[in-house]
Amino acid sequence: MTIVMDDVVAREARHVLQTYRRQPVTFVRGQGVRLYDAEGREYIDLLSGIGVAALGHAHTGLARAVSDQAQTLIHTSNLFFHPLQGQLAERLANLSGLPRAFFCNSGTEAVEACLKFARRYWYTKGEPRAEFVALDESFHGRTFGSLSVTSDEHYRKPFEPLLPKVTFIPTNDAGALMRAVTKNTAAIIAESVLGEGGIRPLTPAFASAINEACSKSGALFIADEVQSGLGRTGYPFYFKALGLRPHLVSIGKALGGGVPIGAALVSQEVADTISFGDHGTTYGGNLLACRAALCVLDELVGGGLLAHIGRVGQHVERRLLAIAASRPSLVKAVRGRGLMWGLDLTRDAAPVVPAALERGVVVNRTAETVVRLLPPLVITQAELDEGLDRLDAALGAVGAAA
Ligand SMILES: *Cc1c(COP(=O)(O)O)cnc(C)c1O
Repeated sequence: MTIVMDDVVAREARHVLQTYRRQPVTFVRGQGVRLYDAEGREYIDLLSGIGVAALGHAHTGLARAVSDQAQTLIHTSNLFFHPLQGQLAERLANLSGLPRAFFCNSGTEAVEACLKFARRYWYTKGEPRAEFVALDESFHGRTFGSLSVTSDEHYRKPFEPLLPKVTFIPTNDAGALMRAVTKNTAAIIAESVLGEGGIRPLTPAFASAINEACSKSGALFIADEVQSGLGRTGYPFYFKALGLRPHLVSIGKALGGGVPIGAALVSQEVADTISFGDHGTTYGGNLLACRAALCVLDELVGGGLLAHIGRVGQHVERRLLAIAASRPSLVKAVRGRGLMWGLDLTRDAAPVVPAALERGVVVNRTAETVVRLLPPLVITQAELDEGLDRLDAALGAVGAAA
């Protein structure tokens, strides 16, 4: 079957709700870190579907696991037991230190669950606290609860009123945090590395302030690790590197390697306040999704992937700093950890994306001026070099046109 780009675009234009401004590329196949479009052009994928395809594309082990599971049993609902959910929860508990998991289908649902569990905790304590403290530049998702703790006016405005009593403070401002958190704060929520906000890691000083604010006020802390978790930064979770002590952790994106699954990881203290029927979902943690996630965790923990990310992560940092040094009028800052990087430009980064696609490399733009890199976690140094050479050429073209 030949796929004609114009037909794809025309059909979508008629029938798909126009919420996405897509790049004019139709990907039809992938292999490892490479994607192929309908015309057979090859691209190095330095974005992995926004940090999702952690094992790359068409990974043999994942493909086999998903296919085998699909031929055995895909879904039974949460009305019954199945053998995989407990296994996955146990593995996530060992990795995070939070003993219990609630499974859902996306990042926003994981955040939504954390917000509800925080409210439930205080309700059970007989001290119903409603307030949340969140960060400027935060992104936690698009459903009403997670949107309420997302700062971007552009996302929020058309849907107001949202949840009341959310206070936003400047990222990494410990003083502002200490002033904002009170005995009425149900929870503080923060990404360990702000992703959509432009790849901004929390500072160790701010992390200590979060721990201190929680002990002083009793407020819970929700670490949103949907983007930064599961190896992306070279750590299983970046909150651990920062010494943060979250009561709730949201994960998603990479967890299923492309099969939709998310989870809220919960401390025993919070878990003790949750009762049967408090929250639920039809699909959440079904056999297919759990099987995919178990396969991803096998690679991450057993396959030496974390050490690999540490190594290639240092290489990316060196290369990005060199690119920045060679283009001082275009690149203003390089931020990131592991395989999660942002090149902050002196101008709108939007033109870099099509220029990169033309040269066979996939990246995206976030927070207006930031070129974001979230390559598959399995990417080799040679593949990174090839991709970064193409990106550098794209930056050259954009810089020259400015
Ligand atoms: C992507 C993201 C979400 C939302 O995840 P979806 O799967 O798109 O709902 C939430 N929090 C963070 C930090 C994210 O990066």
